[in-house]
Amino acid sequence: MYSLIDSHCHLDFEEFDSDRDRVIDNAAQNGITDIIIPGVKSSTWSRISELCDTHAHLHACYGLHPYLANEHRDEDLDLLLAWLVQHDCVAVGECGLDYRREQADKHSQMKYFEAQLGIAAELEKPVVIHSVYATEDVILTLKKYPGLRGMVHSYSGSYDQALALIDMGFYISIGGSITFDNARKIRATASEIPLASILLETDAPDQPDADHFNQRNEPAYLVNILECLTELRTESIEEIAEQTSINARSLFGL
Ligand SMILES: [Zn+2]
Repeated sequence: MYSLIDSHCHLDFEEFDSDRDRVIDNAAQNGITDIIIPGVKSSTWSRISELCDTHAHLHACYGLHPYLANEHRDEDLDLLLAWLVQHDCVAVGECGLDYRREQADKHSQMKYFEAQLGIAAELEKPVVIHSVYATEDVILTLKKYPGLRGMVHSYSGSYDQALALIDMGFYISIGGSITFDNARKIRATASEIPLASILLETDAPDQPDADHFNQRNEPAYLVNILECLTELRTESIEEIAEQTSINARSLFGL
């Protein structure tokens, strides 16, 4: 069994309400030593805080997700800053840009994204970034905040964009999408970028790996992503497990 860190898992989501304790136990039994829980909207932050206060190996992030840009209010940004100052957390997020959804208009997404980057810079916290069909704009926006560190979760951009992000101090987080044979671009990128810049994540309950297609995802399945990444790379499974854990500990200060 390998020691692994799930760098992005929504354990607070209601999909886990009926069996959250079992899911947490199952993760531990499968070698998942730590789980990073990103926050998506202000009404969920207290639930994450309670969860992380009662489990030492669960770690909180607080943020405003771009998917929900039309639900957030301007005052949520003031609330976020106050909340981050008053509560233990390992990062700001998840925040970012998602150009799939027309209902969350780009202008509004960008407003919340930039504001959260500013907060992360002010508090000297890393930032958890969600980027879908928006990696170029994410890179351009991050250039305005030199010195910021963070991760791009469930990375889906190109190899060259990954190198640009790594250059700026960001980790590339790899999830279940690499387990699908037809995901050629992300599989090629995951095989070539430096191991020192890779994190592993499930994004549970979303984005299950190929073995759990159409099922609810959970952090215990992170092992499948480790095994798949090992097939794509030259390093041993032990090396990949160890280095990705070192990377997560370094970024999140665990
Ligand atoms: Zn997420």
